[in-house]
Amino acid sequence: MLTISNLVKSFAGEASKRRATAGRVLAVDDVSLEVGEGEMFTLLGPSGCGKTTTLRSVAGLERPDSGRITVGGRVLFDGGRLNVPANQRGLGMVFQSYAIWPHMTVFDNVAFPLQVRKRSLRPGKREIRERVAKVLETMELGHLADRQATKLSGGQQQRLALARAIIIEPPLMLLDEPLSNLDAKLRESLRYELKRLQRELGITSIYVTHDQIEALALSTTIAVMKEGNVLQTGRPREVYESPNCKFVAEFIGTSNFLRGKVVGRDGDCVDVDTEAGRVRLESAARVPVGEEVVAAVRPESLEISTTGWGNRVNEWPGTVTNRAFLGDAIDHIVRVGQGSLRVRGNPSVSIKPGTEIFVATEPSKVTLVPVG
Ligand code: ATP
Repeated sequence: MLTISNLVKSFAGEASKRRATAGRVLAVDDVSLEVGEGEMFTLLGPSGCGKTTTLRSVAGLERPDSGRITVGGRVLFDGGRLNVPANQRGLGMVFQSYAIWPHMTVFDNVAFPLQVRKRSLRPGKREIRERVAKVLETMELGHLADRQATKLSGGQQQRLALARAIIIEPPLMLLDEPLSNLDAKLRESLRYELKRLQRELGITSIYVTHDQIEALALSTTIAVMKEGNVLQTGRPREVYESPNCKFVAEFIGTSNFLRGKVVGRDGDCVDVDTEAGRVRLESAARVPVGEEVVAAVRPESLEISTTGWGNRVNEWPGTVTNRAFLGDAIDHIVRVGQGSLRVRGNPSVSIKPGTEIFVATEPSKVTLVPVG
């Protein structure tokens, strides 16, 4: 549906830390992506990593230095040769700075994109009324249909911008942090609404966010970006469970990192001597004995026992040094050997600091990530 090949975009500006040539900042540095039909594809990364610039390039609001962008087989940008203007790209867009039409009511803001369609494509008055009412209901704006758009709160304006983009059922919808101004509850409920709508209408969407929970909850595919590059692309579970580098492991969820050295291999398992003791992990990577590596394991993949199991491969004695109640979970910080592990568990099991306990995990729950 969308193909981005070798996209590069630089801006004039101070070189900062980012790779820069002749006083230009490389905001997007050779990005290639493929987005399939019906996907909710998320660009996820910290502030300034180039997500918005990538999206704006697809929208036609930035002119890239080089690369190629096609949507549904139609070439929208091709190096210096072709650059289809934004208003001829036919894409739905919702940006952080939601532009609504201030002189219109909420209803008219959403109806307008349908009313100005070519006569042959324009729905009848009744259909427009029904479609607008349905979208406004979904966005919890039904009761505000007659209100002037400027007399809405920031969050309501953001939902109005979303409603207006969705109503035209575009082949590709570009969403840049469209839920950023909403309170936590509304944000969560709209996240599900958006996902349901997107699936029902089959609208392929590119979603930009720096919120990893949002990305995990919404996406069919996540591309993790850092400093203008895409580091990993995959299904949410894949990126979460098998991060391909330390940055991804740290950026999505919380991880324990144990530095160590490979001491042996047994079939699909690799043994690593770490600061916390011997760790066995499953890895298909051909890592030679003696190689320095980092073993990563999620807090929720570790278990605690006061008595120990006695027969597990990855079972280490340790001492609780701290604990934090999180409401739906409890984190214990456990000193194991020379290392420290965060273990997340059921909040009904709270263990006092100073208690000697055992920590264990399965080899399949430990991931090998390159040092660095
Ligand atoms: P955020 O989550 O904060 O919106 P982002 O990942 O979307 O960040 P971009 O907005 O794409 O990042 O910016 C990438 C880099 O390009 C940053 O270093 C930014 O300062 C720079 N940049 C973006 N737009 C411009 C511009 N118009 N002129 C100069 N530099 C720019």
